[in-house]
Amino acid sequence: RAYNFNAGPAALPEEVLLKAQKEFLDFEGSHMSVMELSHRSKEYSRVHDRASALLRELMEIPEDYEVLFLQGGASLQFSMVPMNLLDKNLGASYILTGSWSEKALKEAKKVGPVEVAASTKESGYHAIPALADIQWKQETSYVHLTSNNTIYGTQWKEFPQTGHIPLITDMSSDILSKKIDVSRFGLIYAGAQKNLGPSGVTVVIIRKDLIKHDDSLPTMLSYDTHVNSRSLYNTPPTFAIYLLSLVLEWTKDHGGVSQIEKLNKEKSALIYNAIDESSGFYTGHADRDSRSDMNITFTLPSSELTKQFLQEAANEGFIGLSGHRSVGGCRASIYNAVPLEHCLTLAEFMKNFQKTNS
Ligand code: PLP
Repeated sequence: RAYNFNAGPAALPEEVLLKAQKEFLDFEGSHMSVMELSHRSKEYSRVHDRASALLRELMEIPEDYEVLFLQGGASLQFSMVPMNLLDKNLGASYILTGSWSEKALKEAKKVGPVEVAASTKESGYHAIPALADIQWKQETSYVHLTSNNTIYGTQWKEFPQTGHIPLITDMSSDILSKKIDVSRFGLIYAGAQKNLGPSGVTVVIIRKDLIKHDDSLPTMLSYDTHVNSRSLYNTPPTFAIYLLSLVLEWTKDHGGVSQIEKLNKEKSALIYNAIDESSGFYTGHADRDSRSDMNITFTLPSSELTKQFLQEAANEGFIGLSGHRSVGGCRASIYNAVPLEHCLTLAEFMKNFQKTNS
């Protein structure tokens, strides 16, 4: 298996791929692939319900929340959230911690009035804002934030207390990577292609009291439609949901979210230690208290050395280590499925590269 540090689509657990391969031509004695099953069949229905039940179990999702499997990626949620939840008389509040939250804000602006409750843009998105620096209007439709900033490598450690105002969170790049209290949120959304499975399915977890029927919305863009049809209003991405169910089974078999969280901490520590013990050869982008356990961003002393590092890493079989095209440098994405051994190998490579080049 490749040392896959891609930011998404990203590495999937080998066991999941092997199981999918085994069942590829004949799913549970049906003599058909999952892809060939009707989305209205009993066999597919079991897959769909299993994915939903496993996500509920692993994330301890309370009864008063619905789980939806949608399409359009997290990017469509940038529009669906305001279309469904933004009251034009109140507006909505956005916390900016990187490009994805900027994109969410941009789409919300098209729907109604918005305000920026906090932003770390001026300091180059090195950090998550201090809770004391976040200010939203007393009455606002919701507060929106991005829990993990895939491009900048920063992650919220503690979420703001928003009281009766719903907290809406884009968890695309850290869902299921650590324990969270779902009851703190009004709505959580995430594209699957980092910690949950392949691209093609987007998970939405929404508190029931936020689901409203609004005839003025396009049918497909209303949460109400998908809640009432168990995410089967139209043809869902059946194969992606099947793989999601396998990834969730794998997560459960590996001790659930608390075990995964522990392992994720060990994995990120290996690479952060290589940065911290490099006497400045490697510089982490994120401030220490905002560091992400999912995406580790760093630079080398010069652009020539960065280029050489990336070239030699590629020669050694490391995939996906260049930083996002908007920020440059290097980035190692170490989602749940990236094995500890791969992080260890990368940390060793970093140390050896430093030895020979400083
Ligand atoms: N939000 C975050 C935090 C992301 O990392 C990404 C993609 O990398 C997106 C949103 C966009 O997701 P999608 O490609 O599923 O629309």
